[in-house]
Amino acid sequence: MNDKVTALLDTYRNKGIEFTAEDLDYFETLWNRLTIEFDVLEDSALRSVESTIKTRKGITSSLPSVPDDADDLAISPIEKIGNCAKMEPVAVRVKMVKLFPPNHPRMAQVGIIGDATGTCKVTTWKNAANPEPFVEGKCYEIQWANVDFYNDRVQLITTQAAVKPWNEDIQVKRTDRDTLTGFITKVLSAGMVNRCPVEKCRKPLTVCAGGYFCTDHGIQQQSIPDLRARVILDGETARIVYLNASVLEDLTGFSVSDAEEIVRSQPVGGLFAVEKRLHDLIFGRALMVHSTPMNEQAFAQDAAFITSPGVA
Ligand SMILES: [Zn+2]
Repeated sequence: MNDKVTALLDTYRNKGIEFTAEDLDYFETLWNRLTIEFDVLEDSALRSVESTIKTRKGITSSLPSVPDDADDLAISPIEKIGNCAKMEPVAVRVKMVKLFPPNHPRMAQVGIIGDATGTCKVTTWKNAANPEPFVEGKCYEIQWANVDFYNDRVQLITTQAAVKPWNEDIQVKRTDRDTLTGFITKVLSAGMVNRCPVEKCRKPLTVCAGGYFCTDHGIQQQSIPDLRARVILDGETARIVYLNASVLEDLTGFSVSDAEEIVRSQPVGGLFAVEKRLHDLIFGRALMVHSTPMNEQAFAQDAAFITSPGVA
């Protein structure tokens, strides 16, 4: 485990949070994917790990209490609640679109709610004040829910909300959480990396006298060539999406061996030529991505160019 991640985990251990071997494995995998596979700067990778720790271990900021003689709040459209302050109380009229199995023992319910303007995640933490459980497909007026953010995405906390059934059907704007569409408006990085051949390492290597250098395993004679790209996909919201070699090859036909061929034929400037080639193949294109549910990072599982976002 990386030192910075270990130090971060220790600050939570000091607050009485315990981690299972499975938790540690999960955080290590996330850290490695971000810093090694996608070369994310350590500070932002650490922020991602921290928000994952909070989500996974059910750590929330404490909720402000609801006044005893609380009046009903005006109903907010879902698309507006992202403008609220963290923990601000709001009211919404929504349909429970989908419930998911809670991924934490302290979670009572987790799901997606929606109205005509959009959808968002909703979480109820176990608490004596919990409202009646939500039922998928039913509509509700939810009063005194709290706005929360994780990884810059808005969610509602309904741990102590007042929830009443709403008898009219509510149309929900269609969005599919696992499918992202948009235009590639920026290629943050794209190109070839040489990875450490030591089993399970895969760290990017730097060229050195006598071969390649791995910060963990020293000088290596061999390296494993790889391609990856990190792009901004601007659709309903702008998201950073990670594309690995197999997704890039499916999308563009450009493969690791094509990249190797360019580097072989152009010993000077070959890596730059690969970068430019990948950039030109993907920049500005409309893309549909199926991403893995790993945290809130969009790691593309597969992707396809589309005519325009919204015509998926
Ligand atoms: Zn290594």
